[in-house]
Amino acid sequence: MSLIFELSVPGRRGTTLPGLDVPAADAIPAGLRRIKPAALPEVSELDAVRHFVNLSRLNIGVDTCFYPLGSCTMKYNPKFHERIAELPGFAGLHPLLPQLRRGGALTQGALAVLFEAEQFLAELLGFSAFTMQPLAGAHGELTGVMLIAAYHKKRGETRPVMLIPDAAHGTNPASAALAGFTTRTIPSDANGDVDLAALKAALGPEVAGLMLTCPNTLGLYDPNVREICRLVHEAGGLVYGDGANLNAIIGRVRPGDLGFDVMHVNLHKTFGTPHGGGGPGAAPVGVAKVLVPFLPTSRVLKRTDGSYALEYHFPDTIGYVAPFYGNFGIILRAYAYMLTLGAEGVRRVSAAAVLNANYVRAKLRDAFPAAYPRTCMHECVLTAQPLAEAHGVHALDVAKALLDRGFHAPTIYFPLIAPEAVMIEPTETESKQTMDAFIATMLEIAALAERDPEALHRAPEHQTVRRLDETRAARFPDLASLA
Ligand SMILES: *Cc1c(COP(=O)(O)O)cnc(C)c1O
Repeated sequence: MSLIFELSVPGRRGTTLPGLDVPAADAIPAGLRRIKPAALPEVSELDAVRHFVNLSRLNIGVDTCFYPLGSCTMKYNPKFHERIAELPGFAGLHPLLPQLRRGGALTQGALAVLFEAEQFLAELLGFSAFTMQPLAGAHGELTGVMLIAAYHKKRGETRPVMLIPDAAHGTNPASAALAGFTTRTIPSDANGDVDLAALKAALGPEVAGLMLTCPNTLGLYDPNVREICRLVHEAGGLVYGDGANLNAIIGRVRPGDLGFDVMHVNLHKTFGTPHGGGGPGAAPVGVAKVLVPFLPTSRVLKRTDGSYALEYHFPDTIGYVAPFYGNFGIILRAYAYMLTLGAEGVRRVSAAAVLNANYVRAKLRDAFPAAYPRTCMHECVLTAQPLAEAHGVHALDVAKALLDRGFHAPTIYFPLIAPEAVMIEPTETESKQTMDAFIATMLEIAALAERDPEALHRAPEHQTVRRLDETRAARFPDLASLA
């Protein structure tokens, strides 16, 4: 499909404004007005409608197709919660509205949402308190490792090293480095778990902590997680939990009970907001009691008269990490999501997410074996290595072929420790019929690899763009011209 951006024709109009029924007046002082009229496109209403509808159809999204992008939890998010976020009392809220004393109680509802959402998360995950401010998972990580740094500093200890397993998301070492730590990599063992011997060898008085993703990015639950936390604590360190994979365990196990001291939660993965596309996120960070004094300012506290207020005065705080309320709209959706599902509902989320991933893993076993052949959690990491070795068809070819067949591609080549990785996260919101269609398509692609590998190297053939130079596409995106 071609899409033309330069539709403007001089004099063409898409609106009819009623005639002026008041005396004309110069509302804007002459000195502040544009010298030349703005160069707005002159188009009809139909031109504008077609332009935007066609643009929207170039998007692949959860609303249009199955989107098994591993690690991203691209679940379907109920439209009902979008309606709640649109309520004028919330959507129109200005962060500088007065809290309580003067100007009425205009922000009390929003502060109550922040306060209660924090309570819900603390209960669900087993932490003492949360900061609701961080604006993305990576931002939550940075906040969390800054809390760990503040903790050691307060105790007069110098611990410059952060340990990070080799299965970790790339944001983990980046966040630790940004907070001033030196990172040290802990290898995975043959099962895909943290290598305990290597961990023990790496622990020492210079280690501030460990950043652990549970379940990890292979979609595997490390059976030694309690022991890992114990070992780190014994060495005087703290354990950071990357909670991006919470969808696998939500309502079943509380990370705080396992021994994690601090953890971010991607509300835009697990709790009712789609992830990806560079849209807004929110990643509240939960902490054990020892880290509460260091939490960022401000925090919402409940007063004895039942009212809510933002409090700013905490002597040991790490300071500001985000302005005002954080991404309030995302927190509001998560609050609505938790209220809708309730305790039993969130348990059903994790049950169905894990069942769906294992269904896909088992059905694709022969053509795409799991990188680590174990029961997985909410996602399965398969490998295209057999296809690569036998037919020269790689994970990238499979991903591109899926696009032509009406599916978003899974995550590929991540985690780095699995060769030819194809990382599939169906999420709990997909039906068996959808997964069966996906499985059938994956098997069709595997069969085609044997018969006609070239056909897969040519894919995609029916998309708006063909294969891109991925480095250039990321560094110099050209979003206006379509090949
Ligand atoms: C998504 C993800 C992150 C980063 O979260 P963002 O909100 O994208 O910054 C970190 N770790 C893991 C395991 C993830 O899947």
